[in-house]
Amino acid sequence: MLSDECIFCQIIRGERPSRKVYETETIYAFHDINPQAPTHILIVPKKHIARLADITPEDAPLLGEMMVAAKTIAEQEGVSSGFRLVINSGREAGQSVFHVHLHLLGGRRMRWPPG
Ligand code: AMP
Repeated sequence: MLSDECIFCQIIRGERPSRKVYETETIYAFHDINPQAPTHILIVPKKHIARLADITPEDAPLLGEMMVAAKTIAEQEGVSSGFRLVINSGREAGQSVFHVHLHLLGGRRMRWPPG
């Protein structure tokens, strides 16, 4: 299920440009347009789910696939020795695009807490 106005759905449909790094039947991954680290990839399920807070138990396999994709992409991009995965759920948490996505960040030293 794709949403007409959602910018990530438009990217998945090829109606908006992206720098793709990985694609399966269920997942699409591309470079973030405003990178926060030397490597910053967005891993997006093709199914439109607005927020992580909206997932259901049926989405569990899909979320697992996103993790496997992250591991594969980290290797592909040469950052498998150290990378960070982030999901912002809700505006308060900093979510700005309301289609679930996993940020994969790498290529620099990460700090904690993330702020
Ligand atoms: P979040 O703030 O967690 O919702 O993350 C949304 C991310 O999408 C931000 O890091 C944006 O830089 C990124 N973004 C927004 N529009 C695009 C786009 N057209 N192509 C690639 N990344 C985008």
